[in-house]
Amino acid sequence: MEQEKNSILIVDDSSLNIIALTNILQKDYKFYVEKDGAACVATAQKHVPDLILLDILMPGLDGFEVIQALKKNSVTKDIPVIFVTGLDSNQDEERGFMLGAVDYINKPFSPSVVKLRVKNQIQIVNQIRMIHNISITDELTGIGNRRFFYAQLEQEWSHASRHQAYLSFMMIDIDKFKAYNDNYGHMQGDNALRAVAQAIKDCLTRGTDICARWGGEEFAVVLPHTNITGAREVAERVRTHVEALSLPMDNGTLTRVTISVGINALIPPHEGGGYNLNNFVSDADRALYHAKATGRNRACAISDLQEEPTP
Ligand code: GH3
Ligand code: MG
Ligand code: MG
Repeated sequence: MEQEKNSILIVDDSSLNIIALTNILQKDYKFYVEKDGAACVATAQKHVPDLILLDILMPGLDGFEVIQALKKNSVTKDIPVIFVTGLDSNQDEERGFMLGAVDYINKPFSPSVVKLRVKNQIQIVNQIRMIHNISITDELTGIGNRRFFYAQLEQEWSHASRHQAYLSFMMIDIDKFKAYNDNYGHMQGDNALRAVAQAIKDCLTRGTDICARWGGEEFAVVLPHTNITGAREVAERVRTHVEALSLPMDNGTLTRVTISVGINALIPPHEGGGYNLNNFVSDADRALYHAKATGRNRACAISDLQEEPTP
């Protein structure tokens, strides 16, 4: 499969400069082109290109003002900017770097040098992206890891608290998985973990739902804008889907695994409201233990515990 090309936003008020730059780079990259500063900021925010080539002297916002606007915005602040400009004094170049540019190219430029300097920055972008992806991915299953998940969960918790929206959380644990490993070996155990991860992922239909490997044989799911009824539906879907998996063994036979699910669903209180994210997670954990204690291969919500008469 052909790898998707990196994208570059070229910003210059002169059509001739735009043509010159696109001619030099056209084979290797995908382009967005803008002719003034305000349009550059808008396009950068909309498309988040991998690199911006930015002229300085333009009508309206100049390049120095544009880079400051880009750096102030959380969506665009990390996009590397190379100035490509007729301003060739040391002071201007220093100012460009001080404002956060990664490189500074003077006009008139050498096509081959522009090409190489762009290539260097794009390589850095791709390396950073690769390292970032590794840092948030669980190596065994390919889904998100706990670091990734917790950052997302914190964001969803704040969002739901601010907008007073429902948020659901599920803690999923494979049943009797120690025995599974003991019976079939750790390699088969690893295969089962991969299959369960994929099954959980397949059951999440909304783009905003997130799953991850919490650790060991435990997985976590966050369902934004979802109340307990919706969360129970998803949990039941995941539970039955996992139960129906046929996992092939080396000797040609098939095995099965089941999961238990602990669910918590609520509208998070406003910031500082006492009940916090840790309480939210640990209550889902309590619901999970309840599911284990009452027979496994089932989903329980925290409300199922509260409804029981206290002994
Ligand atoms: P329960 O139904 O109460 O959850 O029982 P359990 O046996 O699943 O729980 P326990 O916590 O005793 O054991 C979890 C097992 O999960 C232990 C370990 O062998 C297995 N496990 C954890 N991480 C991995 C992994 O990365 N690969 C494999 N193959 N097994 C793992
Ligand atoms: Mg466990
Ligand atoms: Mg388990």
